Amino acid sequence: MKPLNLIAAAALTAAVFPARAAVDFDTHFADSTLRVDYIFSGTNRTQHIAVTRLSKTDKWYGRRNNLDSLLLAGNGQLTMLDVQTGDTLFRHSFSTLFQEWQTTEEATHTERSFEAPFILPMPHRTADIVCTLFDTHNRVTSQLRHRVEPTDILIHDRSHEPATPWKYIRRGGDSRECIDVAIVAEGFAEDQMPEFIAMCDSSIAALTAHEPYASLIDRFNFVAVMPVSRQNGISIPHDKLWYDTALGAHYDTFYIPRYLTIPSPARLFDVCTNIPFEHFLILANTEEYGGGGIFNSYTIASARSKHSKLEVIVHEFGHSFGGLGDEYYYDDQYETMYPSDTEPWEPNLTTLVDFGLKWSDMLAPGTPIPTKPDGHDLTTKVGVYEGGGYQSRGVYRPAQDCRMKVNEVHEFCPVCQRAIRRLISFYTH
Ligand SMILES: [Zn+2]
Repeated sequence: MKPLNLIAAAALTAAVFPARAAVDFDTHFADSTLRVDYIFSGTNRTQHIAVTRLSKTDKWYGRRNNLDSLLLAGNGQLTMLDVQTGDTLFRHSFSTLFQEWQTTEEATHTERSFEAPFILPMPHRTADIVCTLFDTHNRVTSQLRHRVEPTDILIHDRSHEPATPWKYIRRGGDSRECIDVAIVAEGFAEDQMPEFIAMCDSSIAALTAHEPYASLIDRFNFVAVMPVSRQNGISIPHDKLWYDTALGAHYDTFYIPRYLTIPSPARLFDVCTNIPFEHFLILANTEEYGGGGIFNSYTIASARSKHSKLEVIVHEFGHSFGGLGDEYYYDDQYETMYPSDTEPWEPNLTTLVDFGLKWSDMLAPGTPIPTKPDGHDLTTKVGVYEGGGYQSRGVYRPAQDCRMKVNEVHEFCPVCQRAIRRLISFYTH
């Protein structure tokens, strides 16, 4: 999602594949990673999913707990099923730039395709993978089921490829018990890497200035990944500036000036081959304000912006890691991303369709719904304030202000804090 601007989509509990007894990692999986690259393509009304390639590497750096369940539904899901028993072995949820693009004007007349790489633990036995995309009404719009034979000789073994230069910046513990975040350099020449490392440190400091990261930082490992860009800087199309950089990042995504994204997530995964990662934080070597964060995909943010650079990183990581929705809204826009008949899956937004699933247990007795803003205790007083998710009507947020609403606020509201805490626990317990 854009830095304090626009779009998401929805799919709440989406219990297409109900979870059964807990799946033991070692019983079902090798300590190895299966990477599946898809192409998502279509228009505003069509969606296609196709597999482009399968590859594998040694070691699995993803979660080893809660393998067959989801905490957040996302706008798309992967489900791995054991072919012999039909049991669900692994689930993963995500959002995509493709689904954001589907809301643009261009999608009404042009078909486009977007890369969508994912990593899953390598199963011991033959498995099926089901890839599903949802629309804003939580309806399945596209689904692909394909088989994976772990012994297939055409699964490209990349275990022996040399890794991009990388090192640990902060280590909370063993990768099996921690969430591995790769901080990736974008637009940095070789001689600028010491500067990049310093920016990694200040980014981690920015995260740890916020709860719940402050008290749970030891659940994270951070590695710095240093691909060299052939040119310094980041492409800014509205200034007619294009550079040849490691990930090809650029502003003006969907013609929105501050929306910074990368055109090829597969390149990002390539750059991080044989490096411990589950989540990505890309630091862009530019002073231009902007960024983007897509749930379980990546965060990218300007690392040099004089205007609130660190706040952007924390906000966008709230999207990509925390699955949080934007709590800001526009006065003239409603019913775009969050239809009034559907409860959004984002834990910090509600349409009141199923508010019991959200933060009703955190409201003080007698709190009116909706709650009138009173200008006091802006981030700490939990209520149900109308306006959020880009819509001034029909979507409600938990606090008057929050890190997910404005740059000037320096903390997450209690509901966002709880949501992040729950996710960290889901990955590590
Ligand atoms: Zn919040």
